[in-house]
Amino acid sequence: MVEKLYLVSPRGFCAGVEMAIKALTWMLKIYDETIYCYHEIVHNQWIVKQFEKRNVIFVESPDDIPHGSIVMLSAHGTAPDIEEAFHSKTSITINSVCPLVTKVHHEAKKYEENNIEVIYVGHKGHDEAKGAIGVAPKNMHLIESVKDLESLKISKEVALLAQTTLAISEWEPIMEKAKESYENLQLPRKSDLCYATTNRQKAILDSLKLVEQVLVVGSKNSSNTNALVKMVQSNGVEATRIENISDLKNIVLKKTIAITAGASAPDHIVMDIAKEINPHETLFLNPISESEYFPLPKELRNNVRKISNFLEKMNLSNEEPNKFFGIQNDKNWSATEALASL
Ligand code: SF4
Repeated sequence: MVEKLYLVSPRGFCAGVEMAIKALTWMLKIYDETIYCYHEIVHNQWIVKQFEKRNVIFVESPDDIPHGSIVMLSAHGTAPDIEEAFHSKTSITINSVCPLVTKVHHEAKKYEENNIEVIYVGHKGHDEAKGAIGVAPKNMHLIESVKDLESLKISKEVALLAQTTLAISEWEPIMEKAKESYENLQLPRKSDLCYATTNRQKAILDSLKLVEQVLVVGSKNSSNTNALVKMVQSNGVEATRIENISDLKNIVLKKTIAITAGASAPDHIVMDIAKEINPHETLFLNPISESEYFPLPKELRNNVRKISNFLEKMNLSNEEPNKFFGIQNDKNWSATEALASL
């Protein structure tokens, strides 16, 4: 029997994931045609399934869509040439990239323009890393470890950028080694690891003195979920990723447990797992508060405004009063409510 279960916050949806889920939900409400989405909108199996049930088709290339399609680009950021290829084929393309990923793309571009080579710390094959490297492919070197860094030989000026969702414990040793190796190393003023990634990691670290084991809710391809697991393990505590309640049968539970969740994991899965564990006592730890909000993509807001104005002019808006209006109140609408409305 589990004696104490700590539910640690912040956990689960970040502002970027909230925005991307709501943006795709709006696309389904506005357009009757099939919506194609480049990459999984966010890396979570349950969420992807909910959208697939509404006939969203997830694709991995502009070649996978018919001409004239409506497309959403995922939260992880898209390489400029791929984005252009979509634009040349689609009638509407909405980009739901997280603004914190865009910031890294801008940095990569700026360094290329200034003839400074970039070492990018990220995971090979991850959607975010592919998108970022695509900004300046000839000028960027993707590395995953200190060993990769040591095998690089760059004689020009060098800058260091990172995937937003790395474990602090994987990023810091690489950053320290790079500072040692490159005297004039350029670093972004504020770390590329995003607020959501670092907050979730710092919050779970705070709980480690209280527990014997940590469960991290999230999908296999969610980088910040895996980063939470790594972070806990690197501090000597057992950590296991768990997709949903059915994974519990494969885990031997200890007496004191903490639960957290990656930035794309829905909270109802966390609560189902907590309920199934049925501990003697449930406690809440919330060492960091978050209030970030990212507005919906500008193109989406503009399209909705145009449709709303048209309906108003045609005196049609009263026929379906809730269909388009309300996008202005987006801040008061959560991704959880959006998913429930599908
Ligand atoms: S994890 Fe960070 S970078 Fe990724 S979508 Fe969330 S806020 Fe944006």
